[in-house]
Amino acid sequence: MSVQDKLIRPSHNINMDDIIREGHPTLRARAKDVSLPLKDEDVILGEKMLQFLKHSQDPVMAEKMGLRGGVGLAAPQLDISKRIIAVLVPNPEDEEGNPPEESYSLQEIMYNPRIIAHSVQEAALADGEGCLSVDREVPGYVVRHARVTVEYFDKQGSKKRMKLKGYHAIVVQHEIDHTNGIMFFDRINEAEPFAVKEGMLIIE
Ligand SMILES: [Zn+2]
Repeated sequence: MSVQDKLIRPSHNINMDDIIREGHPTLRARAKDVSLPLKDEDVILGEKMLQFLKHSQDPVMAEKMGLRGGVGLAAPQLDISKRIIAVLVPNPEDEEGNPPEESYSLQEIMYNPRIIAHSVQEAALADGEGCLSVDREVPGYVVRHARVTVEYFDKQGSKKRMKLKGYHAIVVQHEIDHTNGIMFFDRINEAEPFAVKEGMLIIE
């Protein structure tokens, strides 16, 4: 049984044990395009990946399943070297702690995603980045494009184009990097991790 066959069994929920960690060669490989029309196994895998993110953000499920919270997951992190990513960015609660009207500001499964255009301006998250495949903190600004246009196929197999900025742009670039064997710390200036180049946007 392949890794993918195991993960897509109806009874299986993706959990931390399914996620490979830094040092594993699959995280450094360039993943393969998925074939179109999409195979059922790839559609199901994408749905399982998104479900993992939902579980990881649900305090009760996360506690029960022992999950670290995540906003993105790429198939290579499951030791499946395919160009599939899932992203799930929650909207915050309001000031009184009520849940937002729309739960998520970004919820998408992307097949064969690629950046077709990007801003000259760069951006980084003020608090740096983390990764479910990296069990340590790596401080520093992860320098990325401030704005990107991404082209991908959705789970219906339709070609889509999405313009992203701010936190959403960062999350999607982090996940697309995984399909190219790039880790977030590769983009931190080693000599000066908190160097700010002219015009670089720091996202709070
Ligand atoms: Zn990651």
